[in-house]
Amino acid sequence: MISRTFITLLAVLYLSAVGTSADRHDLRLPVLPDYQIILCDLHSHTVFSDGEVWPSLRVREAFQNGLEALAITDHIEYQPHEKDLPTNLNRSVQIAAWSAKNYMITLIKGAEITRDMPPGHFNALFLNDVNPLKTDEWRDAIKAAADQGAFIFWNHPGWRGQQPDGIAKWYDEQTEILAKGWMHGIEVVNEDEYYPEAHQWCLDKGLTLLGNSDIHGTIAEQYERTPAKHRPMTWVLAKENSEQAIKEALFAHRTVVYWRDWLIGEKPLLAEIFYNSIKLPRPSVQLSSADGAPLKLVNTSDLTFELAHGAIDAGLEIPESVTLPPSSTIILPIQKKKGATLPQMVTLSFVVANFKTAPNQGLPIEWKIAVE
Ligand SMILES: [Zn+2]
Ligand SMILES: [Zn+2]
Repeated sequence: MISRTFITLLAVLYLSAVGTSADRHDLRLPVLPDYQIILCDLHSHTVFSDGEVWPSLRVREAFQNGLEALAITDHIEYQPHEKDLPTNLNRSVQIAAWSAKNYMITLIKGAEITRDMPPGHFNALFLNDVNPLKTDEWRDAIKAAADQGAFIFWNHPGWRGQQPDGIAKWYDEQTEILAKGWMHGIEVVNEDEYYPEAHQWCLDKGLTLLGNSDIHGTIAEQYERTPAKHRPMTWVLAKENSEQAIKEALFAHRTVVYWRDWLIGEKPLLAEIFYNSIKLPRPSVQLSSADGAPLKLVNTSDLTFELAHGAIDAGLEIPESVTLPPSSTIILPIQKKKGATLPQMVTLSFVVANFKTAPNQGLPIEWKIAVE
């Protein structure tokens, strides 16, 4: 017979293993009409390649950082711990699966094809079996991933370990991989690096934008839970939080990269996030007096918005730039220029400087405001 003490002990062990909501830092994000924003990190390592942590810790960190999905992508060709741990390319994800279930983290089985540049490193996600990817020829490895229906992306193209000047370069091998349908995205952010060249390639070639931590040590020693120093994430705009829905969204390019206080993504997705985050409780101003009038802007999210002047309606005077910190209310002073006559509706145009639609390009937004 199992004693009551033993059952209590089991319950305590179970609860301490699954954690509580107090451990988790959830980012307040807007609710979008068509998609859920699934916070993902799609590049991480464990002791089963050159990482320093056990796979279940990766899951716990993901939970604490407010992530909803995590890919473990241990190196296939680089196994520095193989003398201490049995080489089994599928094992890290198998071990993490129990924790992922308990923490409700969608766990994605991946691997990093680790070759000299060119072609460099590639992550393959949604694999059934990593073993067929362990081959001498890099083409066979990428093909083996593609044969399993994997989502494949080029990792850290400007990483200084392979590109000493930090500038990403496109090689004939990249052209070949793309032509064969084996490259679906590129990391425009890896750890603390952003690659503007790769950002432009994604736009030109219709590839998915990704930004990941590529964590090897612990998240706690490298990142903080602040807007400026959080771990890089790929936000996937999916129908639901499931492996299948995330995969569909990745192939459909519905991603936004969250890096420092930047969001990097395609214009329509960034615009949707912007307009659903910032509310104007009263989109009208009384401009009859010379003192001007206040306009209230409410940031309902945990994101920061750096607004800079766009093309302003002639006749209006507004501040050159305005920052909306996380979860804040800002009063924007608006004045009529001396002697100007204003129509009944005016347009306030801004550029959200930290929402990058292309290298060095912010997101243009505008509000129509009634003049009373
Ligand atoms: Zn790599
Ligand atoms: Zn890596």
